[in-house]
Amino acid sequence: MKYVSTRGTPDLGQFSDVLLMGLAPDGGLAMPESIPAFGPADLEALRGLSYPDLAFAVMRPFITDVPEDDLRALLHRTYRSDVFHSADMTPLTRLGDSQLYLLELSNGPSLAFKDMAMQFLGEIFEYVLERRGEVLNILGATSGDTGSAAEYAMLGKARVNVFMLSPHGRMSTFQQAQMFSLHEPNIFNIAVEGVFDDCQDLVKAVNADAPFKARYEIGAVNSINWARVLAQAVYYFKAYLALNLAPGQPVDFSVPSGNFGNVFAGYLAKSMGLPVGQLIVASNENDVLHDFFSSGTYHVRPAERVAMTSSPSMDIGKASNFERYLYLIADRDGAQTRTWWEGVGRGEPVALHGSAHWDAVTASEFRSGRSTHADRLNTIRRIDREYGRLIDPHTADGVLVGERHLRPGVPMVCLETALPAKFGETVQEAVGRIPGRPERFLNIEDAPRTFEVMPNDVQVLKAYIAAKLGALKGEVSPTR
Ligand SMILES: *Cc1c(COP(=O)(O)O)cnc(C)c1O
Repeated sequence: MKYVSTRGTPDLGQFSDVLLMGLAPDGGLAMPESIPAFGPADLEALRGLSYPDLAFAVMRPFITDVPEDDLRALLHRTYRSDVFHSADMTPLTRLGDSQLYLLELSNGPSLAFKDMAMQFLGEIFEYVLERRGEVLNILGATSGDTGSAAEYAMLGKARVNVFMLSPHGRMSTFQQAQMFSLHEPNIFNIAVEGVFDDCQDLVKAVNADAPFKARYEIGAVNSINWARVLAQAVYYFKAYLALNLAPGQPVDFSVPSGNFGNVFAGYLAKSMGLPVGQLIVASNENDVLHDFFSSGTYHVRPAERVAMTSSPSMDIGKASNFERYLYLIADRDGAQTRTWWEGVGRGEPVALHGSAHWDAVTASEFRSGRSTHADRLNTIRRIDREYGRLIDPHTADGVLVGERHLRPGVPMVCLETALPAKFGETVQEAVGRIPGRPERFLNIEDAPRTFEVMPNDVQVLKAYIAAKLGALKGEVSPTR
C-alpha cells in the first residue's frame, strides 16, 4: 500500500516511511492511496478472532511492507491481557437494558484510550528502527493523557528515548504521579515553568532547528501519526462483532472528541465497509467540531480562546486530524484540501454549507453535540444512579451527546476514553465520593518522583537533550 499526502504529494512511500515521518514534506498528513473494502462475507470471517488476530486482519491491507509473520507476532506482543487487563482487550458493556453500550478502551497501562494505539506504536517503532539501524528521540508536550500513554508504551525500548514536557504543577495529581513515578533510563520528564502552550512552543522551536533535529534524531508521537489512527479502527470492528447484529444492521458510535483522531478512526472503519450508521462527535465547551457539523463552517479557535474545562483532553481549538476528513470529503482533491487548510492557518473559516462538499458531509452521517461542566456532572451522577456505573468526564460528554441521537432499534456504542480514577476531582464533585482505582495505582501519589524542573527557555532544553543523549551513547549502540 502506498501513501499520499492530503495536500497532493503523490508518493510518500509505504507504511514504515510515513510511520517515522510526522508531517508530509508539503505540510499535509499521510493517507493510504485507497481504502480497502470489507464485504459482508469478509466481515463474517472476522467473527471469533482474538483481538490481535482481528487487528491483523484490519490493519494488514494498510501495512504491506512488514512481513506477515512479523506483523502478526508484533500485534500479539502488543495486545496482551496482562497489559490491557482484560481477556478481550476492549470489553463491551451494556448499560442496564438500555440501547447504550460502553466500549471499554481504558484498561491499559495509563487508564486512557490512547494506550490502544500507543502500545502498538511502541512495538512498531522498535521493529522498524531495528530493521533500519536507527534510533528515535521523541520530543513531546502533554497536558496529561498523551504523555503517560507514550511513556508507558516506550518503557524499556532500546531504540527510543522520550523527552516529555509538561506544565509544571498543572497536571492532575494522579497524572503527575503516573508520569513522574517512572525511573527508566530512556524516559525524561521535564516540568516546564509555564503553561501547556509554552511546552508546545518549545517543541516547535526545537523542531524548527533542522540541524539540531537531524543531529539528535528528534521525532514525535502526536495524534496525526497514521499508525495511531489505523490501530484505533480495530476496536470499532471489535464492538460491531461483539454486538452480534443481523447482517447489514447498523450500529451508531458516540465519541468524546478533541483532535478528531478517535472518531476519524471510526470513519475509516465505516469507509472499509463496517455497517456504521451515525458517528457522533461529542465536544465540550470547546465546540469547533460541533459548530462545523451543525452549521457547515469550520473555524479554528486560537489557543488563548480555548477554555480550560473539566474534560481537559478535549480542550482543543484546532483538530489536526480533521484535515484527513476534509480530504476524503473533497474526494481526495489535494489542491482543494491545501486551499482550505492554508486558509485555516490564516484564521479563515472553511464554509461548506450549500456546496456539493456539504452533500458529502451529510452523506457521511456525522452528528455532533456539545456539553458543559454542569451536563458532565449530571451525566456522571445519573449513569452512576441508574446503572451503577461510574464514568469519567470525557466519557460523560460522549454518553450525553449519544443519548440525544438515539434511534429506535439501533445500538449506541459510547467510547469510554478514560477511567474515572484519572479525573478523581471532577468525579468526586459529581457523586460525592472518590472513584476506585486499579490496585497497581493505589499509593502512586506517595511514590518517589523523577523529573526535571526547567525554565521556559529553548536553549536550556536543547542543552539538556544534548547532554542526556551524550551520556547515553555507549549504552545504546544502534550500530549493526
Ligand atoms: C485524547 C482524548 C480524547 C480526544 O481524542 P481525539 O482523538 O483527540 O479526538 C478524549 N478523551 C480522552 C480521555 C482523551 O485522552
